Amino acid sequence: MHKETIEGQLTTVWAARPLVYHPVTHGSTNDLAGTLARQGAVHGTLVVTGEQQSGRGRMGRAWLCPPGANIAMSLILRPEIPMERIPLLTLIAGLSVAEAIAALLPAVAPQVRIKWPNDIVIAGRKVCGILTESVTMPEGEPACCIIGIGINILQREFPGEIAATAGSVLSQTGITISRSATVAAFCGRFEKNYDEFAQTADLAPFLPAYETRLAGTGSTVRVIEPGEAYEGTALGIDRDGCLLVRKQDGETVRVIAGDVSVRGLCGYI
Ligand code: ATP
Repeated sequence: MHKETIEGQLTTVWAARPLVYHPVTHGSTNDLAGTLARQGAVHGTLVVTGEQQSGRGRMGRAWLCPPGANIAMSLILRPEIPMERIPLLTLIAGLSVAEAIAALLPAVAPQVRIKWPNDIVIAGRKVCGILTESVTMPEGEPACCIIGIGINILQREFPGEIAATAGSVLSQTGITISRSATVAAFCGRFEKNYDEFAQTADLAPFLPAYETRLAGTGSTVRVIEPGEAYEGTALGIDRDGCLLVRKQDGETVRVIAGDVSVRGLCGYI
């Protein structure tokens, strides 16, 4: 992966313009992007690396991105939408990753699924995680957030704690796709989806596409919240990005993404 090969495939007006490429990052791309954002980096600036030595996931977890196989990237956004709608950008990013990978893999496109709220899975394994973080800006300056995305493209083996749940595009499909083409395809999809979403900050127009790709619909899931866990049937999502789960007593609850994990009863999905 090289800066020029990514730039040569970009079809965007603002996403990844500019593109900041580092072959290796010691910290996370979200941290690098946060620093650039505080220094005034424009909406759409994308930080990309092929090796991230200390990536982060949600709730203080680690994200692994070893040399030569995967992508870690962070997009700086200055969204002109109400603050409370900013977390929905995780879902827009997830849909965009899924659409981008599916477009590069037409033969297996239906297998590329979204595991609400922030993962992409292929054939039952997690190939992508997304971490959206707000950047604290000086008083009076517009809101800013960073969307961090790790995608496993070529990795064949996964270490201990993620050996049973993680996969890559290659391990799950047998197909090799280009990392730079994946970055460029994501940027194209995200820019289109973001521009539409930013008009109303409403997910309603995206629900059909999202639900087509949503993993686990109609299945029994276990919702794990801090201090509480329950089971129910996943029904889909609503226009506010909540997962709808029908509990065993018949009540349907709206699960708000945040510090929540959702698991299938027989495994990760
Ligand atoms: P959950 O899967 O419980 O819903 P999450 O989606 O919030 O958690 P993330 O924050 O997206 O998790 O990612 C961190 C977790 O992902 C880690 O705890 C680890 O289990 C797993 N993980 C870390 N690196 C990778 C990777 N390269 N590929 C797949 N999974 C990974």
